[in-house]
Order: sequence, then C-alpha cells, then structure tokens
Amino acid sequence: MTPGRPVPPPLALQIPLAEDAGTASPLEGRLAAARGAVSSTGGLVPLTVARRAPKADDVEIAIEFCGLCHSDVHATRGEWGTQNYPLVPGHEIVGRVSRVGSDVDDFAPGDLVGVGCIVDSCRECESCREGLEQYCERGMTGTYGAKDARNGDSITQGGYASSVVVDRRYVLRVPENLDPAAVAPLLCAGITTFSPLSHFGVEEGDVVGVVGLGGLGHMAVKLAKAMGAEVRVFTTSESKVSAALELGADAVILSRDEDAMAAANRSIDLIIDTVAAPHDLNPFFRTLHRDGALFQLGLPSDAMPPVNPGALIRRRIAYAGSLIGGIAETQEMLDFCAEHGVVSDVEIVGADQLNDAYDRMVAGDVKYRFVLDTTTLQAPAERADA
Ligand code: NAP
Ligand code: ZN
Ligand code: ZN
Repeated sequence: MTPGRPVPPPLALQIPLAEDAGTASPLEGRLAAARGAVSSTGGLVPLTVARRAPKADDVEIAIEFCGLCHSDVHATRGEWGTQNYPLVPGHEIVGRVSRVGSDVDDFAPGDLVGVGCIVDSCRECESCREGLEQYCERGMTGTYGAKDARNGDSITQGGYASSVVVDRRYVLRVPENLDPAAVAPLLCAGITTFSPLSHFGVEEGDVVGVVGLGGLGHMAVKLAKAMGAEVRVFTTSESKVSAALELGADAVILSRDEDAMAAANRSIDLIIDTVAAPHDLNPFFRTLHRDGALFQLGLPSDAMPPVNPGALIRRRIAYAGSLIGGIAETQEMLDFCAEHGVVSDVEIVGADQLNDAYDRMVAGDVKYRFVLDTTTLQAPAERADA
C-alpha cells in the first residue's frame, strides 16, 4: 500500500464468493469506499463496494486518481438506457499495486499502474487474439456496470473508489516520469483519440481536425501534434479559442460561423469528432479532402441529424466510428506519452464536488478533464452497498 493513503480495513465479515469465482484464493476480499449512483436522478452518493479476494491472476490496486469521463455522466444518468444500480463509475484509474495473486509475476506491490475501460474479454475470439479486446465478439467486460462472467456474473464497479481488483491482463504500466493525476485521463480520453489517429496512420504533414474541445478533444489535439500533424480545432465555444491555441492547435474555427466553415473547405485529411451531443456532420464533411475520413467518437443519447450520402460520395470520404483501444495499444499510447511528455490538463476534485463537476462537464465548463482525488473518499461502511 502507498504510505499515507487510506487503506480499506480488512473485511470483518467474509464476502461470500460467487460459486464460479474461484475457490483457492488465500487472500481476503476487501471493502472499498466509493461514490456512485443508486438511480438515474439521485446524483452520486457515498457507497461501499465489496472487492473480490484477489485470485491467482488478479492485481489489487489502491486507487489514487480517477478521471471523470462524459461517458460516466451518460451512464449514471441513464442516458444510455437502463443501468445496473448501484453503479460506481470511473474508467480512468491510476494507482499503486497493493496485493497480487499467486500467479502474477509482471506486477508487484508498489508499482504505478492504470486501468482503463476494459477489465475482461473472452480472450479467444479473433478480435481478442489480435489485441483488439474492445471489439471482443462476445462483448468486452467494461470497468463498470458490466456483467463479470468470470466472477459469478457480479456487476463491475469502477474507479470512483479507494481500490479495485483487476485481472493482470487488463492492467497497464504507468510511466513514473508522468504526473499520475494527469495520466488518469489517458486511460480513456487518451487511448480513444490515439487509436483512430494511429489507425489512420497520421504523420508529419497531415492536417487533423478536432471537433469539440473537451476531455477527448484536448487529448486529440495534443496527440496529433505529438505525431507531427497540423491541427485545426472546431469548437462551439468562443471562450475556448485562445485556450485551444495554447494547447498547440494551429488554427481554431468556430463551427457555428458559416463563413469560417466555408473557408475551411477541402483543407483537412482526418477529423476526430468528440462532441457529446447530437450535431450535423455534413458541414464537417465539406472540410475534408478527397479520401479524407471522419471518425465519430462521441455517443450522444439522442439521434443525430442524417448524414448526406452525397457529401461522402463526391469525395470518397469515409465516415467511421472507433471504440477506445486495445490493451497493447493502450500501453503503446502510455509509452508514447511518456516519450513525448503528453498528459491531460486536469482539474482535481474531491468526492463532494463530483455532482457539481458533472453539471459543469455538461455545460462545457472544464479545461479539460476533472480528476477525482480518492483520498477525499470517506472510509467504507462495514457492509457493502454494491
Ligand atoms: P466532454 O469533455 O464533455 O467534451 C465534449 C465536447 O463536445 C464539449 O467540450 C464541447 O466542445 C462539445 N459540445 C458541443 N455541443 C455540446 C453539447 N450540446 N453538449 C455537450 N458537449 C457539446 O466529453 P468527453 O469526455 O470528451 O466525451 C465526448 C463524447 O465521447 C461523449 O459522448 C462520450 O460518451 C464519448 N466517448 C466515446 C468513447 C469511444 O470509445 N468512442 C470513449 C470515451 C468517451 P466545444 O465547447 O469545443 O464545442
Ligand atoms: Zn471514457
Ligand atoms: Zn473476445
């Protein structure tokens, strides 16, 4: 355990293990202090989570920081449909290893590690074998709100918590030269933007457009710049123009300004669209060169305006989506960030500020990622809620 950090007390009552959760663990499960939602309308409240006893391949992590992703807002507020409540969100986790299972030899107590959006997958399908666990054909197990088939179909609970237990295959090594709080958002916002940039093969001389300057968007700017691209930011917020330039953008276009959009006609190779709300994509297609591509990363709860096929056909434009990134690619991204000194711009918040932070995120009032400092979570109650 990291000295000076609150450590969940050993469990007073043994947490019953699900039947197929493994039997021979010599380690006990522990309770974690957490914040999560118990309904779609009640905001985030203090909760206690039962973490499983680390099995042979498990790594237990004392969480230090967890980023707040807009997906956490969509999920806890029920914007993506019915959820399993209580629900502890958080998939941008950074912390130190506290205990490891008997077969873990690649991580040791004290190691600085991370966990992103994936905590399990089938490990057998073509996507898993290719290191693309996010596209697991049987469905990946998300870090929160997902049925955990290898652990008795319990529901996974995320990183707004003092600890978590994750199979070693889904744990990332965090470079020690980077600020751990500012690394946390790399585990979702970083990899989600790195993956399509890398898939498209962005290199020096390419022009990359980034739509929406929030958590994902600001990482797209930093990563595309580090790959050598020229970057143009499209924003709806006049207040972000100078901040975008400070981040390294070469140009900023106000996307509601029709003249500015017309002036950007045929100027961009690849667009990374990170907007969290429905919006018309057709004006953005017009800013692409022939053979350009637009990757949509945002997942709004309401339907998007229709795409005009003519806009795609006339320039052989590809309209694509992309889901986070695989485990090996996430490690590659972390190592790339360590080499290029790339981290997120963060505002650290305490547990009592989470609900306000969600409202501010929805209002676009964050530069650019909130990160929870888990030392502000209160001690876990004696019985688990989740
Ligand atoms: P965020 O920090 O809230 O940023 C979203 C940005 O979208 C805002 O800063 C804003 O930028 C722009 N925007 C324009 N109109 C908006 C509106 N009406 N409401 C909200 N935002 C608006 O969100 P994020 O964490 O970057 O996530 C962005 C989206 O990606 C979310 O839908 C999230 O669920 C999704 N996501 C997808 C993946 C994936 O794997 N594909 C992974 C993580 C997150 P401007 O002010 O510059 O216009
Ligand atoms: Zn996320
Ligand atoms: Zn699979």
